[in-house]
Amino acid sequence: MLKVAVVTGGAGFLGSHLCDKLISNGLKVVCIDNLLTGSIENIEHLFGNENFSFIKHDVTNFIHVPGKVDYVFHFASPASPIDYLKLPIQTLKVGSLGTHKVLGLAKDKNAAFLLASTSEVYGDPKIHPQTEDYWGNVNPVGPRGVYDEAKRFAEAMTMAYHRFHGVKTRIVRIFNTYGPKMRLDDGRALPAFVGQALRGEDITVFGDGSQTRSFCYVDDLIEGIYRLMMSEITDPVNIGNPSEITIKQFAEEVLEITKSSSKIIYKPLPIDDPMVRQPDITKAKKLLDWEPKIDRKEGLKITIEYFKRKLGI
Ligand code: UDP
Repeated sequence: MLKVAVVTGGAGFLGSHLCDKLISNGLKVVCIDNLLTGSIENIEHLFGNENFSFIKHDVTNFIHVPGKVDYVFHFASPASPIDYLKLPIQTLKVGSLGTHKVLGLAKDKNAAFLLASTSEVYGDPKIHPQTEDYWGNVNPVGPRGVYDEAKRFAEAMTMAYHRFHGVKTRIVRIFNTYGPKMRLDDGRALPAFVGQALRGEDITVFGDGSQTRSFCYVDDLIEGIYRLMMSEITDPVNIGNPSEITIKQFAEEVLEITKSSSKIIYKPLPIDDPMVRQPDITKAKKLLDWEPKIDRKEGLKITIEYFKRKLGI
């Protein structure tokens, strides 16, 4: 009998890659998504597969999944800054009410539960790189607070279900990730810069571009998440690529790889935009024997090809 995994947010960027990975590892997958920011296009290649099923559902409401479930991956949430600024209440609801419902499902099925948390729990961090024992520097009432605090609440709820109900839980703190199936219009730096470079438009760097990010290729991230679920680690684990770059250098790198003649222009820095971000992955290396394998130039080339196909270039 095959193991069964439920993936909430399974039609999103990360969720759909996770569905692919689980199916190719021989699991049955039940994908749940309300398609608020996810898209059927990301999973349509799986529809003919007998080990895949899709339920269109908002996980902030009671969830019913027939039959046995072995693993529950909770990935449902708007996740890019422009999405959660547009959908503040839904973002808070899916992180709080949604996490509660999905934990309830895991408890009922005696399944292991993995929460997709985020480096945003560290806010604008005062320590660098960020280790899992850092509690963060988050503005609860700023515009990003809707996402950051929802994920912080989700972590607390996950630990409560672990401690109080004995649910087997895992928490992954995901740092900036990119790859095919990202939406060109999700507003994040990587799709924005690549789209602008390919269309010959100005590259919009926010602030002076000295803020840093560390970008992880999606396949590396999904491998780390799979290993974490299969482990017994209940404390949070950072998964990301520690290769750090300033946003200005990153814009230049995109221009170079796309051979674009676009110009860099500067726009105001969004409120509470973190100044630095880099995962300390000592824990993942030691406990999961995991580290990223795909460097940024290689990952960017694959992703740029994907965006070119999307744009019909
Ligand atoms: N950014 C930018 N231009 C854009 C979009 C984003 O300079 O068109 C900056 C943004 O202000 C942030 C960094 O790039 O400092 C990464 O932003 P992103 O939205 O990709 O993700 P975040 O790490 O902020 O969640």
